[in-house]
Amino acid sequence: MKITANNPNRKSWLKITPNSDFPIQNIPFGVFLTRDDIITIGTRIGDYAIDLGALHQLGYFDGIPLTDDIFLQDTLNDFIADGRKTWRLVRNRIADIFDVTNGQLRDSAEHKDKIIFRMEEVEMLLPVSVGDYTDFYASKEHATNVGSLFRDPENALLPNWLHIPIGYHGRSSSIVPSGTPIRRPIGQTKPAEGTNTPGFGPSKALDFELEMAFITTVANDLGDRIPIEEAEDSIFGLVLFNDWSARDIQAWEYVPLGPFLGKNFASTISPWIVTLDALEPFRVNNPKQEPKPLPYLQQAGKHSFDINLQMAIMPEDKEETVVCNSNFKYMYWTMAQQLAHHTVNGCPIESGDMMGSGTISGPTKDSFGSMLELTWRGQNPLKLNDGGERKFIDDNDTIIMRGYAKNDEIRIGFGECIGKILPATEFKK
Ligand code: MN
Repeated sequence: MKITANNPNRKSWLKITPNSDFPIQNIPFGVFLTRDDIITIGTRIGDYAIDLGALHQLGYFDGIPLTDDIFLQDTLNDFIADGRKTWRLVRNRIADIFDVTNGQLRDSAEHKDKIIFRMEEVEMLLPVSVGDYTDFYASKEHATNVGSLFRDPENALLPNWLHIPIGYHGRSSSIVPSGTPIRRPIGQTKPAEGTNTPGFGPSKALDFELEMAFITTVANDLGDRIPIEEAEDSIFGLVLFNDWSARDIQAWEYVPLGPFLGKNFASTISPWIVTLDALEPFRVNNPKQEPKPLPYLQQAGKHSFDINLQMAIMPEDKEETVVCNSNFKYMYWTMAQQLAHHTVNGCPIESGDMMGSGTISGPTKDSFGSMLELTWRGQNPLKLNDGGERKFIDDNDTIIMRGYAKNDEIRIGFGECIGKILPATEFKK
């Protein structure tokens, strides 16, 4: 089925500012609370939130097999479980409804009043109920940098790294939508030189991780695996993902079982899921993989995506400073390879599962996706536009992540993924 929603020449009758992240070619999916205190599933065009529940009730999706309440829910999980054919039909229909040549909704003030909200009138919520969250470690530059910093620069990349898309199971309970404030975590840290007792208190090395995450549909039964050629059919879309990390807690706890409390206190996502369909025009060649991976991970064609990613720090009441410019295409392991590997042992993937890419660092120093790497563990503090310096994130700093894809014809983006760090809660012991 053709993705007619992606037609780069299409224009909308809704007013859209140039360079908006949400032209009519994007049509992402999200969940929001309306001014009438109703939770609904919606999409966004320009600075307008579109209530898909209302559109459906008024008959605009006639002819598409959808249950009556599919959009009157507080998560997208059931809609995502309907599968790619349905996502495509709905996205194509939305594009038609808002096409400049279509007067059906445009000329009905009564319907528009029920369906269209200004973005400032709605509150964005988590788009899915995340059943399981897996975080990969798929950027070669990031794994090399972290290996050098935490272990040994001579053997930075462990011997399994070039053969396995390394990952671990995270916590879905602490995934929050953009705008949610984040409390500085408290925890244990390595004993100081010459002592045997660990440190304890608010993290002194709070960091961001510039990642993207993809959201899956129900893909396989227990015991079955997803062949790599079919893996992308199970991917609904992507969000920006800031995987907050406490490096001092992480460094003390991670041996031998890996990430735990230094990682699972919070991860912030952008609230609109941009579909893999919408990102089709931005496919680029996969990174060269040497040595060649095992056959179940081999893949022909273009399965990387050119998505510009940016991280900025904004101190309280000050201007922001962009500290990192990276790109999703720097990932060594593709999303399809990650899914094929994740299920090679028969692990089932469900609708609404979230797969983090791992920190995406590029080849240059200004493209490193964490403060740990940007400051080389605090050795080279970052200079901010307001004259300040940062080794790691200070209390009351706001971290802003942005992402967009652009070619000669269109530009589509993810909006912002924002989190402000609040001081740790007081503690006695
Ligand atoms: Mn991570």
